[in-house]
Amino acid sequence: MPEAVTEDLQKGSSLGKVLKSESFSPADTGSGSLSAPLYVAWQTTNECNLACLHCIEESGPGKAFKDELSKEQTFDVLKQLADLQVPYLSLSGGEPMVHPHFWEMLEFCSKNGMLVKLETNGHFLTKDAAKRLKDLNVKAVQVSMDGGSRETFNKIRIHGDFDIMKEGIANLGEAGVGIEINYSPTKFNTHEIGMAVDLAHEMGAYSFYTGRTMYTGNAVKTWHLLVPTPEQYEQYFKTLHEKTKEYEGRMRVYFHEMGLLEELRYRIKNPAALFIVLPNGLVKLINALPFTCGDLRKDSVTKIWGNFQKAWKRPEVAKFIDDMATNDKLTAQLHNWVDLS
Ligand code: SF4
Repeated sequence: MPEAVTEDLQKGSSLGKVLKSESFSPADTGSGSLSAPLYVAWQTTNECNLACLHCIEESGPGKAFKDELSKEQTFDVLKQLADLQVPYLSLSGGEPMVHPHFWEMLEFCSKNGMLVKLETNGHFLTKDAAKRLKDLNVKAVQVSMDGGSRETFNKIRIHGDFDIMKEGIANLGEAGVGIEINYSPTKFNTHEIGMAVDLAHEMGAYSFYTGRTMYTGNAVKTWHLLVPTPEQYEQYFKTLHEKTKEYEGRMRVYFHEMGLLEELRYRIKNPAALFIVLPNGLVKLINALPFTCGDLRKDSVTKIWGNFQKAWKRPEVAKFIDDMATNDKLTAQLHNWVDLS
C-alpha cells in the first residue's frame, strides 16, 4: 500500500514500536550486529484495484510485474525468513490482498510465529476477511485514509470508495484487529487532516501515520495536482502537533515533518535492519533510494543480508544522497533500480 509519503521512516517508527512491545530495545534496530533483518517489508505484488494519483509505486489495475515471484519462490523466501527467526513482516503492494497466495502467506507466518502487519487500501476488508485476519494473529492492519470526507478521498483514490474503506475499518474493529491509519498529504486534502485524525480515533485506530508527499512513481505524473504549498504544509504540521497533544495516551500520531533528505542522511549512518522486498524478489536498501542489494530468486536471504551491510557503505549511495540536496527531483528515478550486489 505504498503512499506518497516518507514511508521508510514510518516503518522505522513501526519497527521500534513492535520491538518495544516484544521486549527488544528500539536502539537495537540498527543493522550492524545482527545476523538477519529484524523487519521485512514485502511488496508482494504491483497489482492494485485502485489507481491513486499519489501512488509512489506505479501500481494499478493490470500493473502486476511480469516477473513477480512464483508460489514456490515466495514460500522458499518465507521459509528462509522463518528459519532465520525474522520476527516481523509487513505485507504491502500494490494491494497485498489481491495477491494470489495472500492467505496462504499469512497462514505460514502465523504457524511460524512471525508477527505480520498488513498495509492495505481497505477495500477487501469484509467481515469474514477481518475475522480471518484476527484468527491468523495479524498484529495490525494499516489502512490508507487520505481524506476526512468522501469527496476528497474519492478524488485522490481513483476507483476507491470512502464508504467501503470505512466499513472495512469498522469490520477490523469488530473483529478485534489492531487498526492503524495512513494519510498522504496533497494540496486538496491537507485541510482535512484534523477531521481524519478525529475519524481515525473514533473508529478505534491506535496509530496514525503521515509524512510529506514524495515525488516518485505515479505521483511524478500528477505532481502539479498534488504537491501542497509551503503554507499548506505549515498548517498541516501545526494541526498535527495539536492533534498529537489532544490524543496523547489514547492514539499515537506519528508524523515526519522533516524531508526525505534528512531521513536519508540519518539512515546512511544508521541503516535500519529492514529489507524492502519488491514483487520480483529484488531487495532494496530503502524505498527512498534506487539501490538494490540482491535478488531472492537466486540469492539466499543470508547472502543478501551481507550485501545489504556492505551496500550502505558504497560511494554511489552517499553520492546519490548528496545529489538530492541540489536536485529534489532525483526521487523520480527510484524505480530505475541500480544493482549494488
Ligand atoms: S491503493 Fe493506491 S497508493 Fe496504494 S498501491 Fe494501490 S494505487 Fe498505489
